[in-house]
Amino acid sequence: MGIAVSPSIHSAAASFISKRGQILINNKWQDAASGKTFQTFNPATGEVLATLAEGDKEDINRAVAAARKAFDTGAWRKMTASERGRIIWKFADLLEQHTEEFATLEALDNGKPISVARVADVPLAVDLLRYMAGWTTKIEGNTIPISVPYAPGAKFLAYTQKEPVGVVGQIIPWNFPLLMAAWKLGPALAAGCCIVLKPAEQTPLSALRLGELAIEAGLPEGVLNIVTGFGETAGAPLAAHPDVDKVAFTGSTEVGKLILQAAAGNLKKVTLELGGKSPNVVYADSDLGKAIPGAASAIFFNQGQCCCAGSRLFVEKSVFDKVVDGVAEHASKIKVGPGLDPDTQMGPLVSDEQFSRVCSYLESGRTEGAKAVVGGKRKGDKGYFVEPTVLVNTKPNMKVVQEEIFGPVVTAIPFDDPSDLISQANDTMYGLAAGIWTKDISKAHRTADQLKAGTVWINCYNIFDAAMPFGGYKQSGWGREMGHDAVDLYTEKKAVCTML
Ligand code: ADP
Repeated sequence: MGIAVSPSIHSAAASFISKRGQILINNKWQDAASGKTFQTFNPATGEVLATLAEGDKEDINRAVAAARKAFDTGAWRKMTASERGRIIWKFADLLEQHTEEFATLEALDNGKPISVARVADVPLAVDLLRYMAGWTTKIEGNTIPISVPYAPGAKFLAYTQKEPVGVVGQIIPWNFPLLMAAWKLGPALAAGCCIVLKPAEQTPLSALRLGELAIEAGLPEGVLNIVTGFGETAGAPLAAHPDVDKVAFTGSTEVGKLILQAAAGNLKKVTLELGGKSPNVVYADSDLGKAIPGAASAIFFNQGQCCCAGSRLFVEKSVFDKVVDGVAEHASKIKVGPGLDPDTQMGPLVSDEQFSRVCSYLESGRTEGAKAVVGGKRKGDKGYFVEPTVLVNTKPNMKVVQEEIFGPVVTAIPFDDPSDLISQANDTMYGLAAGIWTKDISKAHRTADQLKAGTVWINCYNIFDAAMPFGGYKQSGWGREMGHDAVDLYTEKKAVCTML
């Protein structure tokens, strides 16, 4: 197995990467049924990082059969809610104990700065699991005072109970490999579901290590199965599988639509967390000392590879130049480098494919007449690094304004008239998130009310919490991640009616 990691990296992470990655079914690690493997690459160098089992339809069938058996007859179902909660809590504790190892895996596999993975990705995943552990004992139904007009005089006891939806397929992306796994696993486990998880082919390492910790935490056989492989050959059969009751997907809107079509066969439940082109609005009366760095971090965090990135920066005309100059200055000072370098603030993009996509958007912006105030091209000549970029002189119909770039590229757009601002801000097929910067609280909340977005941040951006639902309006998705909404989406509600 080829590993291009320096000997100075965290030893547990290095030894994990040096093993060939396998598929997890029934708490047993195994090669793909076909025996095939694939490789992942270190995005800072483009060199081979790890070799993994390439699961396909047969492995998905085996994993779904294991999850089905565990759901219908297994120990998870028979456990008390409190016992399930304790296992999920222990899972969180184990993850926390391995923070450095996971931060290293994320930095190597995805490219993100280790300093960020350490304080954001890993602790957020731990906190999410703990939050969800608490829900196991609080998934309640209601008693309902029914009247039944055609049964005069009759007495009834009617109540609802929430039951786990069953076997769930979970397909996750590469931008926050560990955190996306936690967002998916936490509520499904809390609700009592059994899972087949398909990590992104670019970044499967942390999910596999998480699988080891899940066994150590005491998850019974078949509750969590993990199949590594590609979207078309492992993800698609999972989304289409007739014995899967629900599919939960995070990724591109384009693939989200394919998931929906695949799910139609058995009308499995579907939740989707998809793309975005989020407006971030800076009013002239905002505290620019906070709005400017806030706008920079809204787009540049995670190399711009966030579905909720503040990629359209709307700035009130009177402060436009000042804000653009300020954001550009921040961009020019960002330390771009390999994720493992402790000083790195922005890493490479995740893959060669993503790098080419972002570069082609930069090219399209140039061709269509946008101007880069800062950045605008690749950085260096090795790895998938792109300069943090601020584009101006854009037009509403340009590709760089309409389409999700998923890289460190923001389009800054001046506005005059507040009603025109709202229509421009909402002029996108997406509706995942939005930001507003102002000291006027009435204006802030009026604007929040009018923006079509699942999350609106006021005088902040990229604030996430396990208790706060996250998801999209319009083509940014169906359903919500995190919060009690996410748990609900892994349950079915049964009404029970008794004539007394
Ligand atoms: P991106 O385009 O940013 O790489 P994708 O939406 O393609 O994001 O990928 C997100 C996840 O969806 C990955 O785990 C990927 O393997 C999976 N995937 C891609 N295509 C399909 C598909 N046709 N069916 C199911 N899963 C897919």
